[in-house]
Amino acid sequence: MSVAENLDNIKKQIRDAEKASGRKEGSVKLMAVSKFHPGDAVIQAINAGQFLFGENRVQEAAAKFPPIFEQYKNVELHMIGQLQSNKVKHAVQIASCIESVDRIDLLKEIEKQCAKIEKSIKVLFEVHTGEESKSGFPDEIAVRNTLELCANGDFPHVIPAGFMTMAPFTKDEKLIRKSFITLRELKEKLSKEFSQFDLNELSMGMSGDFKIAIEEGSTLVRVGTAIFGERDYSK
Ligand SMILES: *Cc1c(COP(=O)(O)O)cnc(C)c1O
Repeated sequence: MSVAENLDNIKKQIRDAEKASGRKEGSVKLMAVSKFHPGDAVIQAINAGQFLFGENRVQEAAAKFPPIFEQYKNVELHMIGQLQSNKVKHAVQIASCIESVDRIDLLKEIEKQCAKIEKSIKVLFEVHTGEESKSGFPDEIAVRNTLELCANGDFPHVIPAGFMTMAPFTKDEKLIRKSFITLRELKEKLSKEFSQFDLNELSMGMSGDFKIAIEEGSTLVRVGTAIFGERDYSK
């Protein structure tokens, strides 16, 4: 199957899942996760109408995307992987959103680097919601503390936009669903407490579990393998 056919397929499945769970058509956005796949694959997806991409390694993204941005003005990139502070400088140059904010120090560095280039950037707070996944803020208290600093005006170049999580790597649908429910409930609570921000983005769901994520309120699914095929980690 080609990238274009895979994209068609996934979009159909997203629409079906929206309908089945009584959600408005078009309420779920699709991100194509292109990590470990070459720029050619990204261009195939762009030619099939895809414009939002996700990468999890800054070095790889910084090599792949700038020439693509030159040619395709409406292409957007989100960083979705664990981010070391020394990579933030390059990350904020190429991304419109950092979805993997998991600590206050990272937010400080994002603010510092964005101030230098006078850029505002969206962020999502990644939350640890499943037993096996290790990344993300450990709990609601940690996220609330961080949002309080944002509300306090500590990070004027940072736009808090919502939350992200990765479900545990398991076949147990109940555990996966539980992880998505945890994130949705946290969003419902914190978006009320911090109503000065629009915290409505819920980035959850990948190739294997995006239907469950949509049933539980996802607004953004991050799909790699089902679009581009298996990744070759030996590269
Ligand atoms: C790789 C990755 C994805 C995509 O995973 P697939 O199973 O290939 O769809 C989604 N989210 C994050 C954070 C990732 O690192």
